[in-house]
Amino acid sequence: MNRLLLSSCLLVIFALSNVELGWSQTAIVADLPAPETKLPTHIPVKIPIRLYWGYLIIVEGSIGNVHKLNFLVDTGAYPSVVDQTIAHDLGLAEQPSRVNLSNKSVQTGLVILPSLLLGSVGAESLPVLTEDLSFLRKALGCKVDAIIGLDVLGKSSFTINYRTKEMLLGPVERLTFSAPFDTDVPIVTIRTKFQNQQLRLVVDTGGPDLMLFQSRMPSSASFQELGTEKTADVSGSFRRRKVRIPEVFLGKETIGTQIASVVDDQKDAGDNFDGVLGMRGPQFSKIAFDFEHRRFFWDLPVVAPAISVSIYDDVQLSPRVLAEAEDETARVYQKAGITIAWIECKSSKTDSAPDLRCQDPPSAMHLNLRIIPHASKSGDGIFGVAFLSAEGTGAYSDVSYNSAEELDRDWHVGLARVLGHVMAHELGHLLLGSNAHSRQGIMCPSWHGGELRLASMGALLFSQEQAQFMRERLAR
Ligand SMILES: [Zn+2]
Repeated sequence: MNRLLLSSCLLVIFALSNVELGWSQTAIVADLPAPETKLPTHIPVKIPIRLYWGYLIIVEGSIGNVHKLNFLVDTGAYPSVVDQTIAHDLGLAEQPSRVNLSNKSVQTGLVILPSLLLGSVGAESLPVLTEDLSFLRKALGCKVDAIIGLDVLGKSSFTINYRTKEMLLGPVERLTFSAPFDTDVPIVTIRTKFQNQQLRLVVDTGGPDLMLFQSRMPSSASFQELGTEKTADVSGSFRRRKVRIPEVFLGKETIGTQIASVVDDQKDAGDNFDGVLGMRGPQFSKIAFDFEHRRFFWDLPVVAPAISVSIYDDVQLSPRVLAEAEDETARVYQKAGITIAWIECKSSKTDSAPDLRCQDPPSAMHLNLRIIPHASKSGDGIFGVAFLSAEGTGAYSDVSYNSAEELDRDWHVGLARVLGHVMAHELGHLLLGSNAHSRQGIMCPSWHGGELRLASMGALLFSQEQAQFMRERLAR
């Protein structure tokens, strides 16, 4: 019996139609005849794509003799799904079929498409599901005639360039990062690692962000909770937790901080993946599925120098405040062309296992920041202190929680926001060296209403000169 998977194609379907289904990872449908395959071509064929919501990919293709159809490219789907209208127009006989989702079974139809063509990739006598896809038109403002899954896409390696909005069918050019497939078609999974947890994720061009299944999370997994959303479902309501994971690895490569949702699901011993990796969260600029070498490739947007910051929270902030403060700091630096990777290091008060990178030696590229209750008197006015050598170099700074709290009490722009800006200021001392203060902007030595108003608008920043100085110093 074939184990077929609907995963995110149905997730897309039901998520978009606001009928959230508590779905299990696998859906078993009836035995399907094996589709006839065409040999993949070795000459790359370029076709334009249209992007919706920053990640959903629509390409043109044809089914039978009906051309210029809109296909949604969904590597999280198996098998492909066509709209009922197309099946009807082609006069295809529909066989009833059932798809099991979590604790319920969904009635669907099965048809055999005479032929389907997507660029140079074709399939004949292809068994697909039929669904009413009209809701996608309502949601996207674009008619979607079929959701093309890995039963078709798996026939040829392909590259998606999100910047030039092109899909390249054929041999994959080498991109900067890659990770091996852990399992192959009908689902492509890759191994991921965070907090020393190993999980397998489905790589899903039809999904937005990282989604993890609760039943698959080791009991030791601890996340930074960002709150829960309550979602309704035909079988009742369930909760979906939003969490922040400071650093996620695909294979051996980092894709940085990810916001993930953790969904309750039902454990199924046959399932062979633990979550779904959507394409918007990691901000890939290019991705490629190389079926020949069984590797997933990706490129990230070119960014200027990156620093890592080990953060020690002596104040025991709520995870949400800490996460928001970090995001605020990171945003200030992003505007200056510098990316920050946070390493959460435990303060001495907690006994959880620390991130091993907390032991990495500090350097110009690896700074340390400690949030302390009160600033020491010798420090940088109200904010804290950056420890600089006579040459103006250093890697350690303390930030006073108390000063952020007082500023927030006076100006009401939000504690996390103020704290994030204070953190950005103190790190600025480490990156700019001696005499870093300026009359305006984030390096202003004392803040009042004007600065805090700018902070609340996201406009309390480094000057262009300061940003350039820091980038050049880091590039050295
Ligand atoms: Zn200062």
